[in-house]
Amino acid sequence: MENQAQTGQDLSQLKSMFADYQKKQSQSTTRKSREDILAKYFVPRNSKEVFRILPPKPGKKHIEEAFFHVLTTNAAGGKKKHGTVIYCPAHNDPKVPKLGADGKPVVDDQGAPLLVPAPCPACAEYKRLIKQQDPSIKGIKKENMTDEQKKIKAKNDEIWNEARKWQAKKFYIVRGIDKGSEKDGVKFWRFKHNYKNQGTLDKLLPILEDYMTSQQADFSDPVNGTDLTIIMTDAEFNNHVYKQISAITARGKSPLHGDPTVMRAWLDDDVSWRDVFKPKAAPNITPYEYLEMCVAGTTPYWEDTDQNNKHWVFPGRPDLEEKANTRTMNLDSNDEEFEQASDLEEQQTTPRVTINNITETKVGEFEDDASDIGKEAIKETTSTQVVEESNDDLDDNYDDSDSDNEPDGDGSDYDDLPF
Ligand SMILES: [Zn+2]
Repeated sequence: MENQAQTGQDLSQLKSMFADYQKKQSQSTTRKSREDILAKYFVPRNSKEVFRILPPKPGKKHIEEAFFHVLTTNAAGGKKKHGTVIYCPAHNDPKVPKLGADGKPVVDDQGAPLLVPAPCPACAEYKRLIKQQDPSIKGIKKENMTDEQKKIKAKNDEIWNEARKWQAKKFYIVRGIDKGSEKDGVKFWRFKHNYKNQGTLDKLLPILEDYMTSQQADFSDPVNGTDLTIIMTDAEFNNHVYKQISAITARGKSPLHGDPTVMRAWLDDDVSWRDVFKPKAAPNITPYEYLEMCVAGTTPYWEDTDQNNKHWVFPGRPDLEEKANTRTMNLDSNDEEFEQASDLEEQQTTPRVTINNITETKVGEFEDDASDIGKEAIKETTSTQVVEESNDDLDDNYDDSDSDNEPDGDGSDYDDLPF
């Protein structure tokens, strides 16, 4: 028995090796274009959409949680682009060893390295601002405050309004098939958490639970699961029309696809949200540096306003700008994919490799479950934080439909893609 189990495991490893090589083959022959990646985003936009949630891969959930910053970046024509969704390393990457002032890993009593969230300049900025709040009024109800304390509160609220722009936001990601565009294969539906419980998740969960209860089946089951109909409606906010989910319904038990070959291909596809919602970078800079530039307001952008003079712009960094615009020799190469020996790949997911020259002071402290007053402020302000979050230029992969305060863009703007 043991031998059999052993063999089974070995084969599954081999199987994944073949799959891995196959994946790499297809990657090297056809570099994923912007369009290819976009085809992996499921963004409900038509008045009626049909989506089928796929069963999760082993160890994964039906609905995954991930964190992204929603920031303002620079765009062509000297414009600002609001609502750019950017991968947060602190909340999405494996933890890394904490470095002491000497640059060496800090260890605990047992000599094991202390682990902290991966450095993220945007999270650090959030933390830095939050720390400026005056904690003296913590726990005091507004109606019991003196005039002086109310002034402090007003100031704290002001700080909070600035700080929360830098806070990583929780998103949900569902893996599935866009039945209106089956040729695109597996897609990812990403939508933002809504603190008012009025988001996409809040519309979706009751439907899924009801299906499970009434059908005694997993909604994502390839045989007994169900397609979902998503009805979209136009809503208006700040003179912008945007798409909002009006209803989600389960269509009833149906196979994932009539053709077993197609069904198998979808079920076997290993693409994950991490392949699609990648960290954002630009030529010759790392995602970390990109986030630093977000905080500094100097994000680089592709200037394509003039058809005859398309080029990269790096505000305040002529060196990087020149470098980015002179890589004529190898325009087709993919700068983002720096390949390394296969025996290194595993190590890449461990912290040591990624942290090298980032010191504690550079990063700032990051407490996982900080009980700072920022959180108090979340509770206090969620019911009123309506207008500030409005964006008139939201990108499409950013599902704003789950909030009545985040109008959609016109659907043509995909500038937050990692290219
Ligand atoms: Zn972050």
